[in-house]
Amino acid sequence: MAETDPRRRIPRTDRLLALPEVARASASMGERVVRELVRAVQDRARSGQISPEQVEQELLAGIGGAGAHSLRPVLNATGVIVHTNLGRAPLSAAARAALQDASGYTDVEFDLPSGQRSRRGAAARTALLEACPAAEDALIVNNGAAALLLATTALAGTGEVVLSRGEMIEIGAGFRLPDLVASTGTRIREIGTTNRTHADDYRAAIGPDTGAVLRIHASNYRISGFTSAVPVAELADVCHRADLPLVVDLGSGLLEPDPVLPEEPALGTALRDGADLVIASGDKLLGGPQAGILLGRAEVVARLARHPMSRAMRADKLALAALEATLRGPEPPVPAALHADPEALRTRTTALADQVGGQVVAHEGRVGGGGGAEVPLPGWALALPEHLAEPLRRGDPAVVGTVRDGACLLDLRCIPAAQDVDLARAVRAAQGAGAAQEDA
Ligand SMILES: *Cc1c(COP(=O)(O)O)cnc(C)c1O
Repeated sequence: MAETDPRRRIPRTDRLLALPEVARASASMGERVVRELVRAVQDRARSGQISPEQVEQELLAGIGGAGAHSLRPVLNATGVIVHTNLGRAPLSAAARAALQDASGYTDVEFDLPSGQRSRRGAAARTALLEACPAAEDALIVNNGAAALLLATTALAGTGEVVLSRGEMIEIGAGFRLPDLVASTGTRIREIGTTNRTHADDYRAAIGPDTGAVLRIHASNYRISGFTSAVPVAELADVCHRADLPLVVDLGSGLLEPDPVLPEEPALGTALRDGADLVIASGDKLLGGPQAGILLGRAEVVARLARHPMSRAMRADKLALAALEATLRGPEPPVPAALHADPEALRTRTTALADQVGGQVVAHEGRVGGGGGAEVPLPGWALALPEHLAEPLRRGDPAVVGTVRDGACLLDLRCIPAAQDVDLARAVRAAQGAGAAQEDA
């Protein structure tokens, strides 16, 4: 390094750690966290994003906004509502308040009036049954995958579940549902073909080893053309004649049909059509916390609850509290974003353009998270220069848009209107950061 190399002016770690604010932060949130922050700011100076003289100020700003955890709040400007990389469903204000209340000691498994132990999560269960009257009982576990595993293990054990080849899906990077089911020793009896499966295929496959028939909603892709699947009502009839339960994994968690997503099957519908057990995630279209939701016939739910594996999958008190509040409280952000009025989105996007520049362009949102595959949600985006995408992601709050055709597109569908001011401020900060770098 030459004597004139500006990197030589980057303050040393020990000097930064000795600053009074930094030392105080070390004491309150732990030295490891603070050392990470120090290293990150030094790295930004090394790579020329900030000058060595800015290191101290940036570190103090970072410490001011940091806590003992590293997850950062994000403004989701992608237009994808249930974005798995961004934590799926944002919680409603009611659910956030419930998390806060449940975070200390709480009566999750205790009846205060009698002083006796009570059924864990009874209130969340009641809220679910009220929201889905077609179900006799409900069980809440850690996530959708756990719910599926518990259902197949408890009902089929090391026997067989019958599953159509058209429903053997992969739902996330390398995560295959058939592999999950098979992981506890349950055998999958594959039937039909990729595009067509008939009621007779089910009848022929059912035998003494069959513990359940499984229907999995192919959430994130569609088969079209010469296709055929057995409707739930007909499949339930086939199962019940053989005295077998029909388990329907719907993934998305729409409780009742929604006109915006005409193809998306609902839990209530499947139960009324005769399914014995339906499975959904809490943090997809339901718009709640991560949870696996099982609804169905009392006797089937009881079999699952009795299985030893259910203890390893039980929902935590925070999820139970947030789920109840999601179901009982005002409309959560996910359905609000799904039903956002395109004209209102255009008005907000135009107002943002008036403040920060850029061009208002038509932009389609998506449900995401394996719901409403391919259904476009008409809306608008603000098109800004592509180079703003990175400073926006690094900003506070971080803003994640979509980079396409040389532009950074910001879609307001998933941003509450009350946060438009934060978004405008973040865009101006990103524009300022870019200008500062050009000056340097
Ligand atoms: C998303 C999904 C799952 C997994 O649910 P998680 O809550 O992510 O564990 C299972 N089945 C289907 C059909 C899904 O779409």
